Amino acid sequence: LARNPGEPEFHQAVREVFDSLAVIQTRHPEYNDAAILTRLCEPERQIIFRVPWVDDKGTVQVNRGFRVEFNSALGPYKGGLRFRGNVNLGIVKFLGFEQIFKNSLTGLPIGGGKGGSDFDPAGKSDGEVMRFCQSFMTELHRHIGEHTDVPAGDIGVGAREIGYLFGQYKRLTNRYEAGVLTGKGLTWGGSLVRTEATGYGAALFAQEMLGARGTSIEGRKAIVSGSGNVAIYAIEKVHQLGGTAITASDSTGYVVDEDGIDLELLKQIKEVERGRISDYAERRGGKARFVKDGSVWDVPGDIALPCATQNELNARDAKKLLENGVIAVSEGANMPSTPDAVELFREAGIAFGPGKAANAGGVATSALEMQQNASRDTWSFEYTEQRLTEIMRNIHKNTLETAEEFGRPGDYVLGANVAGFRKVANAMLAFGVI
Ligand code: NDP
Repeated sequence: LARNPGEPEFHQAVREVFDSLAVIQTRHPEYNDAAILTRLCEPERQIIFRVPWVDDKGTVQVNRGFRVEFNSALGPYKGGLRFRGNVNLGIVKFLGFEQIFKNSLTGLPIGGGKGGSDFDPAGKSDGEVMRFCQSFMTELHRHIGEHTDVPAGDIGVGAREIGYLFGQYKRLTNRYEAGVLTGKGLTWGGSLVRTEATGYGAALFAQEMLGARGTSIEGRKAIVSGSGNVAIYAIEKVHQLGGTAITASDSTGYVVDEDGIDLELLKQIKEVERGRISDYAERRGGKARFVKDGSVWDVPGDIALPCATQNELNARDAKKLLENGVIAVSEGANMPSTPDAVELFREAGIAFGPGKAANAGGVATSALEMQQNASRDTWSFEYTEQRLTEIMRNIHKNTLETAEEFGRPGDYVLGANVAGFRKVANAMLAFGVI
């Protein structure tokens, strides 16, 4: 780790995986002999580039672009692009590293990568976002392709940004290569269920974990953080499964709506108007309250679905959730719980689904989008959702069984890390030292 200074999130992600892998390293010395772990921690390729663009006032702006092509043992690099002011190399590397194991767990042929920029689309006009995306793709297009590296969305990158990125890729290459990006619009190569997939998957993973303990989401209260793509569809699936999601948040605060979040209103504010979560409380006619300062994890509930960002749930929050009787935590975001919070959940013996298993539904459905693009086919919502549900069930079964195999029944963190690692490591062994 000394060779990667100033990358605390990357260190955190690596440490968490290494803690789990001791059990498999002792059984399989061949991994050690082939320096699999050392090779896994070193991205196959990292690209950092200048992104100049002109804002609406005519001023030249310069952002930094990243693409970390981490591991291609199982397939083309696959992982989203994040556009947010705090993006730096360490954050992109943590996300790319996690992505290797997550993608392996889906059972689909995809390697791990991630990218993004310190550009923040919030507060920018459509024209500014378009010009930034075009400049970003003017460099990125040299490095990606349907068989090489397939980016998608993440924080700050939704259908609008993917549209501008795909348009510029098509223009520069003179190729309608639909499989080069996922999260596309439905009329130009996108897949039904992709928008819903990560949030649906996180709720389905919670349902599976509860099912393994003889219970379910039905009749239970869920505490959800975030109000972006993942949070909205986690709430939708909780409601479909008979539970009630009573909170949502953004970086300004959170709302509590004891009747259950009104999804139509939330979608209108967040997806159409690009508004703030406080608008939700104002327009709910006294039924919901907005809390500006404080933690959404103070709100009592049975299930917690952190769906905003990394390290948003700390030890204090974990203690509060446990005091309030939480029975399951399913991570919709990437690494939202700090290591000491995870430790508290594991000690308490509640069902804890780590992001790399619980939020894998998004990338899995991206791989289904790639399948549809390759066969020039479009699948129905029902069929695609059925595939997603099966994939989430398989990930749950695989992680649970792997945890048992290594003497830690019920430990989804260990199960996900070992099961994800094993497949990648075996492919790397087969390829020799490359
Ligand atoms: P969006 O940009 O759609 O939404 C992000 C949400 O989180 C917004 O409500 C945002 O609030 C909030 N948020 C972001 N940063 C902070 C912060 N520092 N403090 C409080 N709230 C914050 O992103 P997604 O929903 O796509 O992604 C959410 C998480 O899920 C990320 O960790 C992402 O990596 C992960 N993920 C996403 C997948 C996908 O398919 N989209 C797939 C797998 C994982 P605000 O509007 O105020 O910024």
